Amino acid sequence: MYMKFILMPICLLVQLCLFAQTQKADLILHDISIVDVLHNRIQAHQTVVISNGRILEVGKSGIDKKYNSRQSILSTGKYMMPSLWDMHVHFGGDTLREENKWLLPLFIAMGVTTVRDCAGDISDDVLEWKKEIAENKLVGPTIFTSGPKLEGPKSIWPGDLEIANETEMNIALDSLQKLKVDFIKITDNALDPALFVTSIKASRKRGWKVSGHAPVQYTLNELSDAGLSTVEHLGYMLRAASKNEERITALRRENKINAKEAATQLMQSIDSATAIRKFKLLAANGTAVVPTMNGSYITTYLDQDNHQHDDYLKYLGPALKRTYAWRVDRASKDDAQAIVARHQSFETAAHLIPWLYQAGVPFLAGTDAGYLNSFNYPGIGLHYELAMMVYYGLPIHEALKSSVINGPAFFNQSKDFGAVEKDKIADLLILDANPLIDIHNTQKIFALIRKGTYLNRTTIDNMLSMVAQKVATKEATEKK
Ligand SMILES: [Zn+2]
Repeated sequence: MYMKFILMPICLLVQLCLFAQTQKADLILHDISIVDVLHNRIQAHQTVVISNGRILEVGKSGIDKKYNSRQSILSTGKYMMPSLWDMHVHFGGDTLREENKWLLPLFIAMGVTTVRDCAGDISDDVLEWKKEIAENKLVGPTIFTSGPKLEGPKSIWPGDLEIANETEMNIALDSLQKLKVDFIKITDNALDPALFVTSIKASRKRGWKVSGHAPVQYTLNELSDAGLSTVEHLGYMLRAASKNEERITALRRENKINAKEAATQLMQSIDSATAIRKFKLLAANGTAVVPTMNGSYITTYLDQDNHQHDDYLKYLGPALKRTYAWRVDRASKDDAQAIVARHQSFETAAHLIPWLYQAGVPFLAGTDAGYLNSFNYPGIGLHYELAMMVYYGLPIHEALKSSVINGPAFFNQSKDFGAVEKDKIADLLILDANPLIDIHNTQKIFALIRKGTYLNRTTIDNMLSMVAQKVATKEATEKK
């Protein structure tokens, strides 16, 4: 009794001394395997210290003794990698604002903590959400957005900035500068091809990167030389793989050949040596490809899987789901021959993946998920996209890189993202299994760290239930 009395103050003193030497931290993860995406390797048995939303230190067990942490989690058998970036999504549909907002927690629950919004018709909402998410007032992925995209007069897409000449182009770019958009998106439905090229150059001059489709009147290399930063959708790359691209492009420019005939001729003249030679020129310019295979795959193979009973549909609002109909209707009009052609054209494009990789063209993982794009699901779609790139020949770590390293690099964010290492922002995915062995393991989400906050499986499941609940309530109201 007497001894205890004497010892107590000494213990207290020792404890206080230790406490004085320790540094405060918010979260420490013990014995976790780190996925080093860049070097395609695992660092086992690591300790990760997180404070103020950033990684404070990564090292061997024992480093935790320097810290006094609020939260401490033993993570034996788990794998940690940077959380995912989807570099091509769409928020939009003027009457779907509320349902688009429900997608925000869905992305987070699926481990997608950053998205690149490639234009729609609700840019005012998207810019507001972007701000609220950055200020932690709203749960959702960090948003980079193009705002409204550039198009020609009477574009089929609602919400575009329609331009017919350089004066209008400059006014449009001024307005985008006022909106402080993160990059420029240009498509060619109704835009004059020469103005398309002028818009690329003008946007680059103003400091933006440019994402776009590829007008048929120019070769892919001409567009890349003009400064196109990303080519959206793998199908456009087919042109550069053709031995006859220059000739067919010239014919299209002079309107001497229709789209169908041009496509047939291109498909018949695909050649790996030509493809790799031209892809190398794209790579030298830093032009990246965003294959968006998930969406094309789904519409291509609607004859084999109509997706009517996908479990994920419970997370998508009824009005958003109704926008899926147009692609489904269009595909249902294809006869047997058209279906074969559809399959062939997807498979031919998909086989460009290893050639693009061999030529050094940077890949960006993007789904094209959002309204209109049937069954191309926001959130889980990115995991499918990664798996598809691997299936068609991209090495697993390159597929992961296309999301977690090349995504941040596109927006000059490499200092803050792209690896599990000191000083990076703590947006991290914790998986039950090693994704470097099987890409499907990205879907085995055990937990997520978002801006330094640990979200366990129960919290993630609750987020999902809340989304499903909102959808179910709206569907029930509609039925009444
Ligand atoms: Zn798109």
